[in-house]
This record gives sequence, C-alpha cells and structure tokens, in this order.
Amino acid sequence: MTLSDLGEFGLIERIRARFPAPQRAVGIGDDCAVLPQRDGQESLVSTDMLIEGTHFLRDDITPYQLGWKSAAVNLSDIAAMGGNPTGTLLSLALPADLTVEWIDAFLDGYAAVSAGVPLLGGDTTASPDRICINVTVLGESPSGRGRLRSNAMEGDLICVTGPLGDSAAGLKAILEGVERDADVQALIDRHYLPMPRVEEGLRLAAQAGVHAMMDISDGIGSDLEHILEASGVGAEVAPASLPLSAPLQRVCSRQGWDAAELAVCGGEDYELLFTVDPEAEKALDVPHTVIGRILSGRGLRWLGDARSFSGFDHYRSV
Ligand code: ADP
Ligand code: MG
Repeated sequence: MTLSDLGEFGLIERIRARFPAPQRAVGIGDDCAVLPQRDGQESLVSTDMLIEGTHFLRDDITPYQLGWKSAAVNLSDIAAMGGNPTGTLLSLALPADLTVEWIDAFLDGYAAVSAGVPLLGGDTTASPDRICINVTVLGESPSGRGRLRSNAMEGDLICVTGPLGDSAAGLKAILEGVERDADVQALIDRHYLPMPRVEEGLRLAAQAGVHAMMDISDGIGSDLEHILEASGVGAEVAPASLPLSAPLQRVCSRQGWDAAELAVCGGEDYELLFTVDPEAEKALDVPHTVIGRILSGRGLRWLGDARSFSGFDHYRSV
C-alpha cells in the first residue's frame, strides 16, 4: 500500500491513531491545536507548508504574493477558531540563487498581511532546488470561545463569509494561460492574495449561537464533510445558493467553466464556513450567505443537483 491508496486524510488519521490528544486539549483534526492555559485563556497553534511546484509556480507568483500567502493561510487557521493571532514563526528552505530583492519583496508581502502580528522566529536552510516555506502561527482565545469543527448542531444553518470558487478559477486561469483581463486578474489576486478573515472570526466567535467553524482551504465539498464527521451530523446544501462573485460568473460563462463545481470543489478561498442557530443568524453583524442546513443522521446531500462533488486531496487529486 502506498500513500496514493491511503490518501491525505487517511495518512493524517494513521498519525492521529498513534498520538491521541492530551486530556482537555484539542490535537490533530481541527484548524488549530487548542491548549488550555491557567489564566482562563486557550493557546492556539497551527502550521502550514508551501512547496514550489505543489502550491505555487516560482515564475508566476511574485515574491510579494508568496510572502503574503504564506502568512495568510496560517492566520486563516487562527481566524477559523475565532482566535486572536499573537505571533508567527517562519522557516525557509531556499536555493542559493534567489536574489536579495526577491527575499525583501517576500518579507514585504509577509509583513503586509501580518498587520502587526509579530514574527518571533523560525529556521533557515539551503534547499537544493525548490523553495519550501513553513509558517507556524500562535494565537489565543478566551476559554470556551474557540469554535471547533465538532460543535455543529441539528437545525443549524450553514453559512459562508464570502464568495467561493474565485481562487480555484484564478488557478485554472494561470494553468490554462487564459488572457488576463480585469476579471481574470481579480480571480488570480484572490488565489495569490487571500485575505484571512480574522476580524470576522473574532466577531462570529463572540456570538453564542455560532457553533462550529473552520476555514475553507480544500473546498466546501471536502471541508464541510470534516464538520459533519467531527460533529456526528448530516447536512443538505443547495449548490444554487453558493455565493459567486461577479468576475467568477463572467469568466465562467465566457470560458465555459462550471462555476458551481469550482465553488464546491475548488479550495483556497479562505472564507469561513460556520454553523449557527437560526435565531442567532438573524442578529449576526458579519456579512454571510446561508448555503444549507445541518440535519440529524449522516452524510452531505446536494439539493437539486445530481452531480457528486468532492474537494482537494493532496495524494488523490488528478
Ligand atoms: P488545515 O487545512 O486547516 O490547515 P489540514 O487539512 O492541513 O488542516 O490538517 C487537518 C488536521 O490534521 C489539522 O489538525 C492538522 O494539524 C493535522 N495534521 C496534518 N498533517 C499532520 C501531520 N503530518 N502530523 C500531525 N498532524 C497533522
Ligand atoms: Mg483550516
């Protein structure tokens, strides 16, 4: 058996089976690990890696965008818990031929999205050819405030904080060499300069009626399944209700792309996906779109669409 049989999530499950979470802490399986502290706060920790050739192409992404994205995808995992980011660590494996200008632009992008979150340390090493970036992010939230994937409740509405599919369409445009008009550029920007929803996550977690939350990194088809599994519930979602940006709709109709499929299966939107009590939803002060409902039982049902959708898996994708 190889990793392509096991799949990315099979591999993580295999690791988790050997390393159960310590008591009162949240370990493998959520957007962040959660460690209770003595002062009524919880510490949040998460880490993410970006590898040249797998996550980005050096000749297409600018160093500024790469620095931005490296920090953004990590800050997004703190946002997903409703936490406040307190610091990051940056580890770089870089080939010797990168220019100093490249490094400075990378750090400009990293600093811009970090918006005052301090860089506290890291590690540096030479790499034979490919760029490899690993960021660890630290955060905190008041005890019990952190929003886990396992908190969804029957009857909850399922919501997202912003449009889906832009990032996947931007990547598709890059890979297919689509001519870059303003709409295509807007999609590519969403792919390379994702905005972590930290403020939105904090405001949502302050509402008791907001139950489960995560960020959308693999596509809601796959990401929502994680909430359902962790919470032991099912759901129905209407693909027709997924929020689609105007540039996405225009580019899809022009290129003959399936916008619903990009919105469901495409990852890296880094919007927040959350479930909320219907009464509490009416009073939310964060812009959002209702896309479905949590049901008793198991499984995810797509309303009014016969296709079956699935998200991104690092070992199974074709
Ligand atoms: P996210 O997309 O939110 O960053 P991932 O899908 O990368 O989350 O990971 C899912 C969960 O599995 C997280 O809790 C993460 O910490 C954990 N995880 C992923 N890879 C490993 C690994 N190699 N060892 C231990 N835990 C891991
Ligand atoms: Mg996440």
